[in-house]
Amino acid sequence: MNLFRSAALNARVLLTAPVREVRNRWMQKQLASPMFVPFYHRVADTHPNDWTISCHQFERHVNYCESRFDLIGLDELQRRVEQKDSPRPSVTFSFDDGYAENCDFALPLLAERGIPCIYFVAIDHLQRQIPFPHDCEAGVPLAVNTLTQLREIAAMGIEIGLHTRNHVDFSKVTDQRTVHHEITNAKQELEQMIGSRVRYFAFPYGLPAQLTRVAIDAVYESGMEGFCSAFGGYNTVGRDSFHIRRFHGDTCFARLQNWLSFDPEKLRREPAIDYRIGHGASAREFGRVNSEALPV
Ligand SMILES: [Zn+2]
Repeated sequence: MNLFRSAALNARVLLTAPVREVRNRWMQKQLASPMFVPFYHRVADTHPNDWTISCHQFERHVNYCESRFDLIGLDELQRRVEQKDSPRPSVTFSFDDGYAENCDFALPLLAERGIPCIYFVAIDHLQRQIPFPHDCEAGVPLAVNTLTQLREIAAMGIEIGLHTRNHVDFSKVTDQRTVHHEITNAKQELEQMIGSRVRYFAFPYGLPAQLTRVAIDAVYESGMEGFCSAFGGYNTVGRDSFHIRRFHGDTCFARLQNWLSFDPEKLRREPAIDYRIGHGASAREFGRVNSEALPV
């Protein structure tokens, strides 16, 4: 984000702060506080890029969130959504991909403070130590986590989630075999790797194009309890809890503050994800967001 846009956003956050404050207090009284899930990829002070945030910046995010929000896991987030019981705004930290340097600073910081976090990994990259194509294209094949690191992360109390095997773009996948290989089978293998249940899935890229019905169905059928998107969205009471909406843990602090102080424009502009999961009486049907149900 350039300096001008960052300054403009800063001004907007400042100018609308009183309105946001009133709205947030009202939402608290209604037990309808929003639940925020920022996602990160890599926390490190070397090789900066669009998916890396420095250790100092990350600590600033953690300090900011710790002083203002309930810090909760995804299971508690889903409970608040389903039971319409969200008395305070909350934050759940999440990471995608599985970069080795996250073990140097970010994850120990969260673990030492007892802050819940979910860590999504692409298991073939991890097992075979293959750097991600986007890093290779940039000429910097950054290290991915090892299996030993993954087990250490799990032992720290950080939840491990699935991010497919090969960081697959589901907008380009149509055959059931690949879906099974990348989700159902990968989930079982990840469970064997860490010795515990895998409850959540995060879509690589996480845009509406990737959130296909066939892939969402596979997440549900495999016994996982929810999936995460990454197009930028809020979790609010009464929405479908199977879809956990996330936004980028931005290096631009003004943008992060804008998300975390609840910007209703974001909800109005949010794309609809239509899907139906399950069969028969247990089927759950989700459609377009009912804006009347949202506290905006
Ligand atoms: Zn990813």
